[in-house]
Amino acid sequence: MFISLKELKRDEVEFSTTYDPGVLDFRGAEVEQLSALFFAGSAELVGGEIRIRGHLEGVVRHGCDRCLEPVEISVGKDLDLFYRPRRTIAREEEVEISKGESEVSFFTGDGIELKDLVSEQVILAVPMKAVCRPECKGLCPTCGANRNVANCGCKGPDRESPFADLKKH
Ligand SMILES: [Zn+2]
Ligand SMILES: [Zn+2]
Repeated sequence: MFISLKELKRDEVEFSTTYDPGVLDFRGAEVEQLSALFFAGSAELVGGEIRIRGHLEGVVRHGCDRCLEPVEISVGKDLDLFYRPRRTIAREEEVEISKGESEVSFFTGDGIELKDLVSEQVILAVPMKAVCRPECKGLCPTCGANRNVANCGCKGPDRESPFADLKKH
């Protein structure tokens, strides 16, 4: 759904959208969408900026940072975002913004494509280092086996393996 400036100049726009897997473009981010994502809210013009308020809900999948097994991440967040038209910004002002207000977003053209906004918010919701569980043992650096599933028995610097324990007794 496209939120156009023209429409916003007339009135607030309410939306309720659903994105099926494959519709959103996560631009190379390691995010997999399993079921529909839901985004509902409203858009209005506030002092020349587009303000978008709404709630985003859904579940995405991401590879565990240690063992690469898929981890499900629930995305449920309330958003209150402001978008400034890029073309009205003078050069000096833009420099100032990059220093102080890095949270300001911009839009170009006649409005905002909600699909792009939702993709961006989903990427932001996925932690940089998502692990399947805090005690995940990860992959063996020697043979690549998933050490949560099987103990490959490789000898190595891993002192936490149960075999190392056995030798002590
Ligand atoms: Zn893991
Ligand atoms: Zn191994």
